Amino acid sequence: KANRLFHPADTIVDVAGIKIGGNEKIVVIGGPCSVEGDTQIMEIAKAVKEAGGDMLRGGAYKPRTSPYAFQGMGTEGVNCMVHARETYGLPIVSELMSADKLDEFIENVDLIQIGARNMQNFDLLKAVGKTNKPVLLKRGLANTIEEWIMAAEYIMSEGNENVIFCERGIRTFETYTRNTLDLSVVPIIKEKTHLPIIIDPSHATGDWKLVESASLAAIAAGADGLIIEVHNDPENAWSDGAQSLKPERFAEVIRKGRKIANVI
Ligand code: PEP
Ligand code: MN
Repeated sequence: KANRLFHPADTIVDVAGIKIGGNEKIVVIGGPCSVEGDTQIMEIAKAVKEAGGDMLRGGAYKPRTSPYAFQGMGTEGVNCMVHARETYGLPIVSELMSADKLDEFIENVDLIQIGARNMQNFDLLKAVGKTNKPVLLKRGLANTIEEWIMAAEYIMSEGNENVIFCERGIRTFETYTRNTLDLSVVPIIKEKTHLPIIIDPSHATGDWKLVESASLAAIAAGADGLIIEVHNDPENAWSDGAQSLKPERFAEVIRKGRKIANVI
């Protein structure tokens, strides 16, 4: 179903009125790794809106490496995201880790993120495939493009064709960066499939200093959008502070991106 051969035209996924794919505007999603409370998310949402961002991200259920690390605010975090959407009008993106919370996400979230660690959680893929909510399908930590496309097929074969790919870096021998950003996937995914693809330069690099160049390269490579971690106080962020941009730097990425893309 994802195959370009049987569907030559680009699919444009509509996320609460924001269109991703085709030759539409490059969509920029900004927001914190984790929702930390109402004040934090409202401040960041305001900054994302003012910078020209199109959507707000924020994790309420977090797939942390250590079970002792902050696991996310859960339902309270989702409610904070909903409050931010009501105030700033930005559609909201959040990660769903378990089908148990599917109803909560159908009711509240505009774009359901399937994280890298769940790319091959086939029951979760089938569950979101039974809904008509747009799905942001991140590439697994060590998955091939073929496996990633098959993960999209799991969602689409259940009836939901609103799938957006998200490259977020893969595991290599390199240690200077958190992951290795594989931009070759942009033309490959576009050749093999008709679905949109966006890039996450934050998890791909793990270092805020590298986020701008990775973002600009992604736009130049033809990506349909970016999802960038933005925090009002990165030094004290509850997760992924080292890779989070301050709002002014996020605004700068959008300004510079505009010079590369016709529309951003
Ligand atoms: C995230 O978006 O905060 C996240 C955990 O991403 P990934 O699944 O790509 O590691
Ligand atoms: Mn993160």
